[in-house]
Amino acid sequence: MLKTRITEMFGVERPIVQGGLMWIARSELAAGVANAGGIGFMTALTFQEPDDLRAEIHKCREMTDKPFGINLTFLPTIRPPDYPTYINVCIEEGIKFIETAGRNPEPYMEQIKSAGIKVVHKCTSVRHAIKAEKIGCDAVSIDGFEAAGHPGEDDVTSLILIPLTRDAINIPIIASGGFADGRGLVAALGLGADGMNMGTRFIATQEAPVHRNVKQTLVDHGELDTKLIMRTLRNTNRVINNSVVEKVLEIEDREGETKIEDLIPYVSGLVGKKMLEDGEMEKGIMSAGQSMGLVRDIPTCKELLDRIMDEAEAMIKEKFTQVIS
Ligand code: NAD
Repeated sequence: MLKTRITEMFGVERPIVQGGLMWIARSELAAGVANAGGIGFMTALTFQEPDDLRAEIHKCREMTDKPFGINLTFLPTIRPPDYPTYINVCIEEGIKFIETAGRNPEPYMEQIKSAGIKVVHKCTSVRHAIKAEKIGCDAVSIDGFEAAGHPGEDDVTSLILIPLTRDAINIPIIASGGFADGRGLVAALGLGADGMNMGTRFIATQEAPVHRNVKQTLVDHGELDTKLIMRTLRNTNRVINNSVVEKVLEIEDREGETKIEDLIPYVSGLVGKKMLEDGEMEKGIMSAGQSMGLVRDIPTCKELLDRIMDEAEAMIKEKFTQVIS
């Protein structure tokens, strides 16, 4: 057992978080992680209407009696979401944890906090972590440059970002970006975090509700197979390389300002969603982290978390005690 401020805050056995994964973090995965002793977050925006999120919360509760949370991402979107209504659904349904991501969650903090919900803000820089603490967030999840999806624009790796964040704030920290195994968990704790977040690693699990080709693609690809797209729009997205990504980069390389309208046919979330369902991996884009290099199989969430905890505990008990004289 590893007891940290993160296990205490969420009331879970293991300091392992499955953060928001657009289209993938649904009830099957969040419940799988919860039943394996970690904490899972379902992504609110995966559900087109707030009432669809409500139905998914009910479904998740049928699959687990353990805690899970909801991710709310504030980033540019084609169809602007009705955030206050999504938050109201969380309040009405008794959700205890919200993971905010993307922009500053300050405009929504009063609505969330007055309902007694704890907020974990996922951010990509020390200055954003300091701000999160200042506006009353209960924890931060800090995303290094290795991370899938939106790793920010500063390009600072987890190895630097986590200890700098630890030095700058007092609230619990979840290390994110590049974490996929027990070695990563020990490293995260050593760097000053209180737990670790995994995204890419959780997509390659039995419970992740995506086509098996998607999972196998993560096993077959390595740490060199990601690209950064949408840099020109300052909305960088780390994705698995394919022919669609090459096309996007070609457009971004052209002279003159890139317009989101030129990229939408390729980067649209709805195209990506179809790809995840059908397993046709050249159809659209898919976020994936450099941790793909560490993904070698497709276990259940329980097998994965058991293995991570065994590896981490053995390392702490055996390796570390042996090297101290
Ligand atoms: P979408 O189809 O609305 O947009 C596709 C991509 O283009 C997204 O990366 C989006 O951020 C970007 N985009 C849209 N309009 C833009 C603009 N005006 N300027 C710059 N970039 C723009 O996205 P979606 O797949 O339906 O996802 C909805 C939101 O959730 C997006 O903001 C997406 O980035 C975000 N997201 C969330 C998670 C998560 O874990 N919660 C993961 C990935 C993406």
